[in-house]
Amino acid sequence: MNSLEVAPVNWTVKAQEISFDVRPWINGRRIEASAKGHFATLNPANGDRLADLPACGAAEIDAAVSAARVAFERGSWANLSPRARARILMNFADAIERNADELALLDTLEMGMPIGAAAPDMRAAADAVRAVAEASDKLIDQVIPNDPSTLLLNLREPVGVVGAITPWNFPAYIGITKIAPALAVGNSVVLKPSEIASLSCLRLGELAAEAGVPDGVLNIVPGLGSGAGAALASHMDVDLLTFTGSTATGKRLIELSAQSNMKRLILECGGKSPQIVFDDIDDLDAIADAVVGSITFNSGQVCVAGSRLLVERSIHDALVERVLARAQQIEAGDPLNEATSFGPLASKDQHARVRRYYEAGQEEGAVAALPRGYSGRNDGCYWMPTVFTDVRSDMRIAQEEIFGPVLSVFAFEDELEAVRLANSTIYGLAASVWTRDLARALRLARAVKAGSVTITGKPGATAVDATAGAFEPHGQSGVGVEGGLDGMRAFTRLKSVSFAG
Ligand code: NAD
Repeated sequence: MNSLEVAPVNWTVKAQEISFDVRPWINGRRIEASAKGHFATLNPANGDRLADLPACGAAEIDAAVSAARVAFERGSWANLSPRARARILMNFADAIERNADELALLDTLEMGMPIGAAAPDMRAAADAVRAVAEASDKLIDQVIPNDPSTLLLNLREPVGVVGAITPWNFPAYIGITKIAPALAVGNSVVLKPSEIASLSCLRLGELAAEAGVPDGVLNIVPGLGSGAGAALASHMDVDLLTFTGSTATGKRLIELSAQSNMKRLILECGGKSPQIVFDDIDDLDAIADAVVGSITFNSGQVCVAGSRLLVERSIHDALVERVLARAQQIEAGDPLNEATSFGPLASKDQHARVRRYYEAGQEEGAVAALPRGYSGRNDGCYWMPTVFTDVRSDMRIAQEEIFGPVLSVFAFEDELEAVRLANSTIYGLAASVWTRDLARALRLARAVKAGSVTITGKPGATAVDATAGAFEPHGQSGVGVEGGLDGMRAFTRLKSVSFAG
């Protein structure tokens, strides 16, 4: 190693040295929770108990919401100029980047994402904060044409106190993508992270404070969905709830909003995203790489995972053969090894869920074309990539979100059938289309019901950086916009102000 090379990180040693602070972050400090109950987080790679966290409930949520409200009314954040908030958010982004290794390691330990994917994810999260910071003085209000002696304005104001409830599949990243736009437009935030993986989000409170975010503006409360989660969702003083998680929980949050104060909701929920491949693409090897990558990244625990492969019949067998060959080559490994690209599922519950779908697929007559069902490392929390062929669209594995590395393959005859199959679930989160026919690509982009559609004409093409884009789910994949300038506007409300001369 010459003097310019950076020594490789020994993640196993780092993991032994890391310490966990499990206490909630409320009003700018760690506090002792009054909750008596605890819940454990386990390392899914080996079952080790990592930490016992306080199962916070209504008392801690009340304290956090009240701190957020006081901070909001005080105006120490909401009344800063957007530029001043942006400077602090830039510091926050730098703090995330400086501490990226620690945040990534916490996520890897708690939910098993390989460190080689988790560490770059934190750098992407820092960039996502920078993107909203840069945009914070560009959400321009409107002057409405009117009688010349009068003036009518539409002003945007922060909504007030934002509650955020997040899942475990990208714990810190999704936490940051909720916190950053809500803060950028002047709100105060109370975040309840997933009980499977809360530790990285708890650290974000400290990093935001170091960056200059005033006390009470960002609060993080660990707890169970039925405890802290439900308390936040039904709180009478939360103005907006932003949620990422399952469709079932999203529906429950609609009920809790209706039963409490009609708080506004942004719900980013489940998906069953199609990857649609037409036969005008000639490099089947490259497509197979992309298809397998899409269903195995983070062990398939990605909301936009391409879990349904729709292939034009003339290339079905040739593509499936290549997909199987690649899936077969995937090796599971220790998530703390930088060379590992495929780790365990996040929990035993998640493993049991994937196993149930594996069994359901076979019972309903689909063919597990990759006969690795229970072999290899299909133990503990590891589940090896599984491909189902001969799938009918009425089967559960065709309709329901599995959230694991399980691909269901369908053949289609023509464009019409491809669109019908693509739109045949209750979801509408994302879709990818492989074709070189531009006219067809445009037709598909409009016809497929999904919040984001990726068209690729050339396998291996550079991936689009979608940070600045906004998307809005269809169907039961959710409600409301996330991302980009529209995603920031979603955390504001419009006020009409008129001057009558
Ligand atoms: P989940 O719905 O079980 O839990 C998500 C969060 O909701 C957790 O913090 C949980 O504690 C909380 N929660 C559960 N019950 C609650 C209740 N009654 N009241 C209030 N809060 C409650 O989801 P999960 O298993 O953590 O995550 C996986 C799901 O997330 C998948 O369905 C996936 O598609 C979805 N997801 C969607 C996106 C997106 O952008 N659309 C991104 C990532 C994950």
